[in-house]
Amino acid sequence: MSNKKALCPICGSNKSEIIYRVAGHHRRDIRPEVSIGRCMKCKTIFLAEADHFFQEDLYSYYKQYIGAKIEDLVSPLTLVSYDRVLKRLCKITNIQNILDVGCGKGEFVWAARNSGYAIKGIELSLEAVSVARSFNLPVQQHSLFSPALDSSSWNAITMFEVIEHVENPVAMIQRATDLLAPGGVLYLTTPNYDSLDRLCLGEKWNVFHPEHIIYFSTRGLARLVRQHEPRLRLIAVESNNISPQLFGFVRSLFRLPYLGKRNLKSSGYIDDHVVAPDLRTISEGTSLLRSLKRLINLTLTIMGMGSTTILIAHKKD
Ligand SMILES: [Zn+2]
Repeated sequence: MSNKKALCPICGSNKSEIIYRVAGHHRRDIRPEVSIGRCMKCKTIFLAEADHFFQEDLYSYYKQYIGAKIEDLVSPLTLVSYDRVLKRLCKITNIQNILDVGCGKGEFVWAARNSGYAIKGIELSLEAVSVARSFNLPVQQHSLFSPALDSSSWNAITMFEVIEHVENPVAMIQRATDLLAPGGVLYLTTPNYDSLDRLCLGEKWNVFHPEHIIYFSTRGLARLVRQHEPRLRLIAVESNNISPQLFGFVRSLFRLPYLGKRNLKSSGYIDDHVVAPDLRTISEGTSLLRSLKRLINLTLTIMGMGSTTILIAHKKD
């Protein structure tokens, strides 16, 4: 490793301690070595050393989806979770338009449009935009900072697993707030550094990757928003679910049988997030399993240890 070293993306300090050294074990045949550091000043966990930091070809894997059908990219379970997100947003404000930031292949854009919402997606990866456009989705290749976006004009801004990819998350949250109409809602998700997954898997946690610059805990993300964006009022900050990776790890540790479908890929869905059984697939099972899922999610939420952090905030009038 060439040991290029990064400054803390939150406070700019050059003093950090390395807490994980990660050797190649990751999906998609990318086998990078990275070091994860903790800022000694503000305690932010971030990508401290890597062979390379941002490179466009990190996201070129999207091109494998060119020619696919959108229906094959979004599993029924993901559609159910998108529907839940949309219903939740509607309870907070009157949704007339949605901006999906870092929309990837456009799965959420497609789902929201099919449910009758006016939505636009923006995405930096040219390959991802090409895939989304092949589905005739309203997706454009530009950043959140583009002057093409009018301030105070969006009722809802969604960012699914995006904020961990950016070099300046504070500027991103502030810009999103600029773009929200008064009363508009920001919905963002990110992997939770304090999750049971990371605690059990350690350096094997597959979220450690050169794509991911910052590793937020649920509480840390809430603190960041409170400190840097006074125009936002937090509505919900929670974490839920256990990752498929942890399920696989526990199963192999105790030699347990599969609980959900063996491999949804074989049933036609190539959604990255559901290739292994997780709590969502369990929810398809009996009412006992569904109750168990609710209990596990409640416990994880209370302890701040779910795999995904969800933050919902609205812009004060
Ligand atoms: Zn710092």
